[in-house]
This record gives sequence, structure tokens and C-alpha cells, in this order.
Amino acid sequence: MSDLEQKYTEMPQAAGRLVADVAIIGAGPSGLFMVFEAGFLGYKAVVLDALPQVGGQLAALYPEKPIYDVPGHPAILAGELVEKLKTQCAPYEPTYLLGEPVLDLIDQNGTFTLKTASHTVEARAVVIAGGGGMFTPRKPTQLSNLAEFEATHSVRYAITQKHELAGQQVVLAGGGDSAVDWAVELAHIAGHVHVVHRRADFRAAEATVAEMMRLVDAGKITLHTPYQLQELKGTDGKLESVALADLDGNIREVQASQLVCCFGLAPNVGPMADWGLGLERGIVPVDRTTMMTNRKGLLCIGDMAGYEGKVALILTGFAEAAVAAKTLQALLNPERKFKVQYSTSKGIPGQPGVA
Ligand SMILES: Cc1cc2nc3c(=O)[nH]c(=O)nc-3n(C[C@H](O)[C@H](O)[C@H](O)COP(=O)(O)OP(=O)(O)OC[C@H]3O[C@@H](n4cnc5c(N)ncnc54)[C@H](O)[C@@H]3O)c2cc1C
Repeated sequence: MSDLEQKYTEMPQAAGRLVADVAIIGAGPSGLFMVFEAGFLGYKAVVLDALPQVGGQLAALYPEKPIYDVPGHPAILAGELVEKLKTQCAPYEPTYLLGEPVLDLIDQNGTFTLKTASHTVEARAVVIAGGGGMFTPRKPTQLSNLAEFEATHSVRYAITQKHELAGQQVVLAGGGDSAVDWAVELAHIAGHVHVVHRRADFRAAEATVAEMMRLVDAGKITLHTPYQLQELKGTDGKLESVALADLDGNIREVQASQLVCCFGLAPNVGPMADWGLGLERGIVPVDRTTMMTNRKGLLCIGDMAGYEGKVALILTGFAEAAVAAKTLQALLNPERKFKVQYSTSKGIPGQPGVA
């Protein structure tokens, strides 16, 4: 486990059966801020995630990349944002169950029972903040000896410690946002970056593609398009070169010590597909005014929640958490009238309000 993964791995793992006001499925940015918003209204949360650490995509895929569109942070590393979200919700003392995919959800008399392999959680409401689902990277399965190079980390699907690639000859395969982002990022620290893509054009943000082309002109990146990965060569799992092939069977061999595959994540919603949520292509339809799914008491926020006009960004998930908290109160304490409360006036545990 990398230092960053270690840092974000929560230890308090309660045994057996747990009871909470709200169970939150997914400890990505949306799930973590949901803990804060629910806690602010007085609700205790259990947070479950299939990954062994909190932070969702930010911790698993790009902890060392700067994010520029989180309000109030002109630039913040994804890992730092996770750290701050964790600190922000800590006063509400959530219980984390990490490395535990939620396998089943039973709804009985207004109480939900969630099951993982080793825990049962009972909650009066559930917020799904499942993002892209329990994601697993797509692999270049045509490479017969892939496992040999995966074992030595010569082949990677995510970069959690970019300094490990400093000075290395990197082959980066893929043509989407993630591939182009990383090509630009690594060009500044790697010995050289070879970008391999099976199409001539890249499906990534225009500005980042333009920056990549500038780095191509500067001699920091070499493009190989339209080419695909053909063969990995090396000894004892240590990568030495990568053979590339085009559609006509022309072969190129590129010296490389690292192969980074950015083929995206295989959508894997797992058992959620059977929860009657109308889930299609990884998206759960919700009423955007409440974040309620078609099942009463079952809410959904963040990347997984879909409605007309949805913009799947981190900041959207934060706002949806605030809306979901209002719905939680209507569900759990219908006798209470909802009134917007400012954190500046109310304060949070351990920090006084100023009203
Ligand atoms: C390379 C890259 C760069 C990006 N840059 C930006 C950016 O600059 N700005 C921006 O706003 N957005 C950016 N994004 C998008 C951003 O990461 C997502 O919008 C954000 O992560 C969504 O947060 P979330 O909490 O909804 O879901 P996620 O971060 O996907 O977290 C969902 C969590 O739910 C868990 N989960 C799912 N199903 C289950 C289950 N059944 N049981 C247990 N756990 C489960 C998953 O393991 C995961 O940890 C970027 C994405 C990538 C890949």
C-alpha cells in the first residue's frame, strides 16, 4: 500500500451489526461531504466503501493531481482535498467500513438493512454516493504476459505516487481525459513519455490536448497514433520495451520501463443493478429537488445521480449533499420544519458558533 493509500485508510472498523440514522454508500467526495451535511442536522452516519481508503476517484486515481475548480481553492491536490473533507466531517464521528462492498440492501418497515461480507448495517435512510460504481480499470487483456509486469508495478492503471515515474521512459496508452492529463503531467518529470492511442484524435479537453501537442513540439512527448499495444518485453517482470502495432500490422518497438494504461474504468455497479433503482448505464434517476430515488428513503448523490442538466463534477456532489440532508430531515423527523441554518451561526462540535 502506498503512503497516500495508508494515509487515507481509516482504522475504526466496528464488528458485526451497526445501527445509524443514515448509511452512506461510497466514501468519495460526495459521500464524505454527506457525512458533514447529515451531521450538521444531527444525524449519525455509517459510511461504507468497497475501496480500502476514503476519497473515491480522487484517492484511487489521481491523488497527486491538482484540481482547479473546487470553490475557494484556486488549486488543490486531490489527495489534499480528501484529507480536508475527512477533517471537516470528523466532528460528526462517522463510522467507516472500508474495503467492504455493499452486497445487499433490504428494505423492511421503514428500516434499511445493508449487508457486506462481514457487517450488517441498519439505518433509517440510505444515501448512495457510489460515483462510477465499484470501479475496476480496463486492462489490455490481449497482452499474454501482462500479469508478470503488473506484479512488479511496471504496468500501472493508476498513478498514486507520480515521483515513482520520475526520469522513467513511460508508455502511456489511452486517448481520453485521464490519458491526456497524465501525459501532460508526466512530461514534466519522466525521462520521456510515449502516448499510444488507437485513434488519430483524442477525446479529451481541448485545452489539455493543445498543451500535450505543445509538449510534443517541445520533444517531451512522442505520439504513436493510430497504434495499439502488441507485446510487452523484459526480464523477470522488469519492462524493457513495448511493441506497438497499427491496423496494417506495422510494428514499432519503444524502449520503456513503465506502461501506464488509461483505458478508463469498467462500469461495475455490482449488486446495485438489482435494487430496483432504474439504474441505467451506471446512473440512478433522482428527483433533483430532493435527491430521492424511486424508492422512499433511498437517496442518491454525486456522479451516480442523474437528472436533466446534470453536470458531473465534485462541486455538484457537494451541493447535492446539502439537498439530500434536507430530505433526510423530512424523512427522519417529519415533525421538524426545515430551516436553513448557517454554520457560522450554529457552529459545529468543538467549534463555537458566533450568533
Ligand atoms: C483523472 C480525473 C480527473 C478529474 N478531475 C476533476 C476536476 O478537476 N474537477 C472535478 O470537479 N471533477 C474531476 N473529476 C471527476 C471527479 O473525480 C468525480 O466527479 C468525483 O469523484 C465524483 O465523486 P463521487 O463521490 O460522486 O464518486 P466517486 O469519487 O466515484 O466515489 C464513489 C465511491 O463509491 C464506492 N462504491 C460504489 N459502489 C459501491 C458499493 N456497492 N459498495 C461500497 N462502495 C461502493 C466506490 O468504491 C467509490 O469509492 C476527475 C475524474 C478523473 C478520473
